[in-house]
Amino acid sequence: MPEGWCSILGVRLLSSIKIEEDKGFDRSLRPEKLADYIGQERIKENLKVFIEAARKRDDALDHVLLYGAPGLGKTTLANIIARELGVKVRATSGPAIQRPIDLLVILKNLQEKEVLFIDEIHRLSKVVEEVLYSAMEDFTFDRVISKGATSRAAKIKLPKFTLVGATTRSGAISSPLRDRFGIIFHLHFYEPADLESIVLRSSDILKITVKEDGAAEIASRARGTPRIVNRLLRRVRDFAQVLGDGLIDARIAGEALEKLGVDQMGLDDVDRRILRSLVEKFKGGPVGIETLAATVNEESENIEEVYEPFLLQKGLIMKTPRGRTATAGTYSYFNIDGEEASQQKLFFNRD
Ligand code: ADP
Repeated sequence: MPEGWCSILGVRLLSSIKIEEDKGFDRSLRPEKLADYIGQERIKENLKVFIEAARKRDDALDHVLLYGAPGLGKTTLANIIARELGVKVRATSGPAIQRPIDLLVILKNLQEKEVLFIDEIHRLSKVVEEVLYSAMEDFTFDRVISKGATSRAAKIKLPKFTLVGATTRSGAISSPLRDRFGIIFHLHFYEPADLESIVLRSSDILKITVKEDGAAEIASRARGTPRIVNRLLRRVRDFAQVLGDGLIDARIAGEALEKLGVDQMGLDDVDRRILRSLVEKFKGGPVGIETLAATVNEESENIEEVYEPFLLQKGLIMKTPRGRTATAGTYSYFNIDGEEASQQKLFFNRD
């Protein structure tokens, strides 16, 4: 097998192991009540009101759309919404609902006021999306029933339910679908103080001893994302147990994170490959996402959904109609003089 393939497969395999590990780990650390959900204060305040109002009316909550980068807490929030409403949640995902009939089966099995959570809702097929409109609006399902040469339209009545949709790409949701959500929340990257609280909460659950400065060190390198902060905590714990007595302080956390290739800003090897290739191979861009993805051996979707949002937020990359470009921040990240770089006198060999 050519060497390139090995490394591609290696990366894929590693990232799928990482995701599987995260899933089990995520479940044990997932807050179950709104009061335990850290950060996103404005969303929590509003949600509290909407949930209480729905409960008082003894009605289903309006449909909710959650959007934000992976790992920011959309699934967690969907589960919390159901719990706070005192109803069950049924979870599925956009790609899992392949035909309108699959959606009908899911909807018919819901009880009144229950929550249906559709993750990756932007990946619903057009035909499924179209039947979802009337289900969301009038709680009916339009179905064409064919008998021999004749066919007739039938309206099937559905229980009144709450759809909670989650997406990492708000731009990929069509406006007719977006318009049918009464409540739309944009989850933002978390502040370091909130991530620090998440580290302390998770370490309590996992019975890991973390000093406050250790929690702050992990939080500051977690790219504003709860799932990442929990993953880093777990990895730092390994180092603390092998290199020390298990206690996590700022020194051991810093050392462990350096060894893991996570720098002070929270960027990892893939981020650096993206930025380096933008600067080195494409002289700062603009470069199309597909070309950029091919040079760093990652899928373009993965770059757009997982890596780019944080790089954009940090001003390390810019999105233009002609493609991605480097910014002054990208050059200073590599300690390069941007002026010099633009004159194509680019030399650097930082890892
Ligand atoms: P998403 O669905 O947006 O990808 P998840 O809801 O699966 O993200 O969150 C990933 C993990 O991060 C959760 O299992 C939970 O452990 C943690 N988490 C997310 N949001 C919060 C929060 N606000 N407070 C505490 N932990 C959180």
